[in-house]
Amino acid sequence: MLHIGCHLSSSKGFAAMGRQALELQADTFQFFTRNPRGSRAKELDPADAAALCTLLREHQFAPIIAHAPYTLNLCGAEAHNRGFARDTMADDLARMEHIPGQYYNFHPGSHVGQGTEAGITLIAEGLNAILRPEQTTTVLLETMAGKGSEVGGRFEELREILDRVELPEKMGVCLDTCHVSDGGYDIIGDLDGVLTEFDRVIGLSRLKAIHLNDSKNPIGARKDRHACIGDGCIGLEALTRIVRHPALQTLPFCLETPNELPGYAAEIALMRKQAE
Ligand code: FE
Ligand code: FE
Ligand code: ZN
Repeated sequence: MLHIGCHLSSSKGFAAMGRQALELQADTFQFFTRNPRGSRAKELDPADAAALCTLLREHQFAPIIAHAPYTLNLCGAEAHNRGFARDTMADDLARMEHIPGQYYNFHPGSHVGQGTEAGITLIAEGLNAILRPEQTTTVLLETMAGKGSEVGGRFEELREILDRVELPEKMGVCLDTCHVSDGGYDIIGDLDGVLTEFDRVIGLSRLKAIHLNDSKNPIGARKDRHACIGDGCIGLEALTRIVRHPALQTLPFCLETPNELPGYAAEIALMRKQAE
């Protein structure tokens, strides 16, 4: 069965997100660990986290995805920016241990003119400073659209980061369908070819989650503007081939489409039907 859910607001706490997901017929979901601009996280309520863990287990959820604030930049040009990203991510990972065994996804970073190679080095150094042997969370590098100076628009860049991480068993990759299409990978015309390339460069065993989005822009546009399922340049047929692909069957699929809750419920129902 397809594991699918959507991005949810964490403003009412952990267990409330779990209940919200159930109402949407979801069996996974994603949330920001704190407001996307990266300010202080609110006090964690261990009982609320425990209630979510019970719900996830009782309803056999696929892993859920905590998303780091997208303003964090492990490869920023200034040391205090990099330090802030490290400290925030380390704090997020400590908090995630209240919901053991889930995923923590982040945007690798923007090298802001330092060059891709320097960016990769700083990202790997940052990860080596915060990953812990005892953590139960798997940290996911998100595939990026390659806009501006983003690192992670090419599979090779993600592979290089993974190669330099000292605890690679704590790492995985989240493939965003909008981002890879915008990055120039032809998931519309040649999904098998793209997945073969992913396997050759990174290894499909590293692929842990899919962000299922349509794109407002054509392949290679490097824009990163998500569209609702079927409303964009990727289209329902290509997204259906993705949720039906044998190599992706066990993964959690998470919608990050521009929807309110009723729109998400409709897209979850639609993709469940398409996957049959
Ligand atoms: Fe993201
Ligand atoms: Fe995404
Ligand atoms: Zn995006």
